[in-house]
Amino acid sequence: MVAPTVKLNNGREMPLVGFGLWKVDNATCADTVYNAIKTGYRLFDGACDYGNEVEAGQGFKRAIDEGLVKREELFIVSKLWNSFHDKERVAPICKKQLKDYGIDYFDLYIIHFPIALKYVDPATRYPPGFFYEDNKVEFSKATLEETYHAMEELYDQGLAKSIGISNYNGGLLLDLFRYAKHIPQTLQIEHHPYLTQEPLVQLCKERGITITAYSSFGPASFIELEMKKAQDAPLLFDHPTVKSIAEKHNKSPAQVLLRWATQRGVAVIPKSNNQSRLAANLDVCSFDLKEDEIKEISSLDQGLRFNNPTNVSTFYRKRCTTTSLTLFAVRHQHPDLRIDSLDTKRKQYHSLTTHPTRA
Ligand code: NAD
Repeated sequence: MVAPTVKLNNGREMPLVGFGLWKVDNATCADTVYNAIKTGYRLFDGACDYGNEVEAGQGFKRAIDEGLVKREELFIVSKLWNSFHDKERVAPICKKQLKDYGIDYFDLYIIHFPIALKYVDPATRYPPGFFYEDNKVEFSKATLEETYHAMEELYDQGLAKSIGISNYNGGLLLDLFRYAKHIPQTLQIEHHPYLTQEPLVQLCKERGITITAYSSFGPASFIELEMKKAQDAPLLFDHPTVKSIAEKHNKSPAQVLLRWATQRGVAVIPKSNNQSRLAANLDVCSFDLKEDEIKEISSLDQGLRFNNPTNVSTFYRKRCTTTSLTLFAVRHQHPDLRIDSLDTKRKQYHSLTTHPTRA
């Protein structure tokens, strides 16, 4: 099974369902990617920050070498990390990421967060993460306009066949429309029934920008990070509204959550390390929800956001929270994630920020 595609505003086709690479272990990433391709996935959503681009590339290579798929049938997405927003840093880091994957263009390259951090040389630390050194966030002077123009150059040079942004709100988008030479093809945002983001979805629809949802299962992705807000929210998989609609369609709640998004024209990139879930998550366009079922699911909206590092002050110096440190540890695929005290987390975080480059 292969997912249907959506036409982007530059005429290119993007699969509506892809595979997210965040928190996919380095040790299993190549096999996971290879198996996902075998299952039918064509879109892969990676990032410098996920720390597994080399291994994901090995999975692509194996699938291509074995004739499972051609490079042009894959849709490989990656992201520009915050530490590389200065205009002269954008092309070099994009080229490094391409080299890590073993490919010569991205199908889509997006600005990960509207946050410009001080440059970290990849030879010093890679991926750089949020902290410059000693629990400290250091900012760069690069404006989003400067960074976006550098992204447009990647597009003009063919290093990125499409470009996009992530974690932008409406205000930042409206500003971008003033300076963009090429309107972005996609916006990637947190999007699930507890955070439906209707006005932003509508704005993008009007401007021809395709939305990709991340964390489509809401709290599920953040419970494993021990985030209290996520632990306190009822699991969407168990929500009576979602469950009863799933039963009516003889589908799993996860499939209903993904169909709710895709039927609204929003692309999804769920992640699972489990083969049967991975296959089920791809099979989410073969049934249709009724209009009133979509509305019923949308009515669960509470404006509940789990991923919000744009409020950078919560990461600042001694005010680092347990959650932010855990998130940070997970982002860096640290082997000892299950740690209990904040003190231990601080120590672990420190070792993460100073660990030698993986390159
Ligand atoms: P997700 O919504 O895909 O949820 C993942 C969680 O749901 C995991 O715990 C997984 O085990 C579980 N799960 C997956 N399929 C399931 C099923 N069928 N039944 C029950 N449980 C299931 O969350 P995510 O990983 O946060 O987001 C998906 C992708 O989005 C990421 O891998 C990443 O590529 C991207 N992302 C981007 C950003 C960004 O800032 N742009 C932020 C977060 C994630």
